[in-house]
Amino acid sequence: MSEESNPTQRTYEHLILSCIHQSSLVDAQWVHRHLHENGFDQDPFLATKLINMYSSLDLIDDARKVFDKTRKRTIYVYNALVDMYAKFGCVAYASAVFNQMAVKNVVSWSAMIACYAKNGKAFEALKLFREMMLKTEEDVGPNSVTMVSVLQACAALAALEQGKLIHGYILRNGLDTILPVISALVTMYARCGKLEVAQQVFDGMDKRDVVSWNSLISGFGAHGHGKKAIDIFKDMISCGISPSPVSFVSLLGACSHAGLVDEGRALFQAMRKEYGIIPSVEHYASMVDLLGRANKLEEAAKFIDDMRIEPGPKVWGSLLGSSRIHCNVEFAERASTKLFQLEPANAGNYVLLADTYAEAGKWDEVKRVKKLLESRGLQKVPGRSWIEVKRQIHSFVSTDEFNPQIEQLHALLCELSSEMKEKGYVPQIKVVLYDLGEEEKERIVLGHSEKLALAFGLINTSNAEPIRITKNLRLCEDCHSFTKFISKFARKEILVRDVNRFHHFRDGVCSCGDYW
Ligand SMILES: [Zn+2]
Ligand SMILES: [Zn+2]
Repeated sequence: MSEESNPTQRTYEHLILSCIHQSSLVDAQWVHRHLHENGFDQDPFLATKLINMYSSLDLIDDARKVFDKTRKRTIYVYNALVDMYAKFGCVAYASAVFNQMAVKNVVSWSAMIACYAKNGKAFEALKLFREMMLKTEEDVGPNSVTMVSVLQACAALAALEQGKLIHGYILRNGLDTILPVISALVTMYARCGKLEVAQQVFDGMDKRDVVSWNSLISGFGAHGHGKKAIDIFKDMISCGISPSPVSFVSLLGACSHAGLVDEGRALFQAMRKEYGIIPSVEHYASMVDLLGRANKLEEAAKFIDDMRIEPGPKVWGSLLGSSRIHCNVEFAERASTKLFQLEPANAGNYVLLADTYAEAGKWDEVKRVKKLLESRGLQKVPGRSWIEVKRQIHSFVSTDEFNPQIEQLHALLCELSSEMKEKGYVPQIKVVLYDLGEEEKERIVLGHSEKLALAFGLINTSNAEPIRITKNLRLCEDCHSFTKFISKFARKEILVRDVNRFHHFRDGVCSCGDYW
């Protein structure tokens, strides 16, 4: 390339950056056309920038066209496209492009791992990370970006043993001075049920930003330590750190899990008045959740009516979830009517409404909702639980026939169930959404994924070791009660993280105090 063309390349680069900055589609198209007319359309450096530009304007197809038309695709061109697909959650496209790459650098690997981790594919994220670690011959040692994604994946799966290995790697490679990495470590330990270690890591930090504080606040909040979460928040303020919107989402969540209604209301007020943070949909949804869980459904509904912004699916979803917990048909109907309009393809809403009807014994209504669900071609999200045993993640679904140990697990559960029944356990068959006989219902609740994971844990862990289970949905009443009994009679400490919070079962009681 001649010397004078370099400035032109740079000129285009500046123009593209300015389009990104201004979010201007008209300018973006003009720059692209201009660049094309001046023979720069095969410049891989500019192609990378163009992909970034279209990505920032949410124009996925245009970005892809740039990629397809570029003949000389450098690693940067590929990386830009993987990054874009990751941003929009197009996991399959990202992985297709990633797999096409003959040479990959640390940015490519990190982008793909982040793509999996951010889009609910934590298993795949860890698998790819292990693959990356085997590529010692290439210059692809993980960096801080990779570490943050991998820690997020470990947190999502509550994969404590793998998280500890990553922690070791971070220390050995001097990545322990990088703030986002340490904050991710705090979150990982907290989400794996190791609050003490999360606190230790936090205490050991030289410097802390609002993200590190938020990690600790949400960690304590998820374990039901609402008051402690508020204390941490106060400490943060006295250290001169300004709270972010996320701080309040974590705080309101903490109040909700601990039933601290007055404290939550006060924080919501303070957020705007003292800290100048305009409440977003997340904050409103957290408030509705807080009020709803405390069975203040009227107040929650009134709160929604008074909202200054449009209540989206999150807010209505909170109301529906609480209505389900308290079996309030009226509010469940009100919330689901809105939700069926706002997100017609979300099967979870239909299931919650049907569950509410089932518990209220309205079987005709249950049938009607199920038909609606089927007519829209939707399927209920199956309950899934994970458990980490000897650094391996084992996953269970309620009707799992693939696990070689499944028969043994069922047998153990039947045995435990009859033993626990003698000790006072009564199966909560009301959680079964079908109009069936009692025995059949008992069989169904006994096959819940959480119980399968629990049985697997009882067989495969040593006595002193606590069992840690992660569940993709809310823990049902029956699994909760069953686990309490097991913790007492098998003398086992059991930690279950469901989609909302932590349950720490010990000696027949749960840390949530049956409030979840
Ligand atoms: Zn269950
Ligand atoms: Zn509990």
